[in-house]
Amino acid sequence: MSEPEPFGDAITRPFWEAASLRRLVIQRCTVCGHHQFYPRRFCLSCDGADLGWVDAAGTGTVYAATTVRLQVIPELQPPYQVALVELDEGPRLTANIVGEPCRMGDRVRVAWRERPDAPPLPVFESAERHTGGWTLPRAVGEVPGEAGGGGAGGGGRFRMNGTWLVDDR
Ligand SMILES: [Zn+2]
Repeated sequence: MSEPEPFGDAITRPFWEAASLRRLVIQRCTVCGHHQFYPRRFCLSCDGADLGWVDAAGTGTVYAATTVRLQVIPELQPPYQVALVELDEGPRLTANIVGEPCRMGDRVRVAWRERPDAPPLPVFESAERHTGGWTLPRAVGEVPGEAGGGGAGGGGRFRMNGTWLVDDR
């Protein structure tokens, strides 16, 4: 069997090779230190042509977001969010938001969407509401079927990734 063809072209290949390892990399100018994405042959800040690649922290802020409600491509079932994410290093990426919808100014972090015939694609998820812990419901009435509040034991219900969980303490 022969090796699969490398993904991308000479400019974008380092990005996709890193993505295969679920690493988000961006270009950094070796002359002036400017970070940029998408990859280009020259630095947008100083026109220098000596660009390297560095790992991005993978965290950023939603600069703009919109919800797509019509089917545009077969692979993506609406509704879904498309956002312009400003990485902490500065460059902005257009990417899908997964999980809880995000708003402008929300903190997000990179996740990866697996694809059958291509390297994983960077997507972003909320870093505020998906901290790995539980978040309290905003009001008692938000708990389905529990309008009267917690149970006799004083336990609460918590929401995680869209699922209601019971805390029976
Ligand atoms: Zn530069």
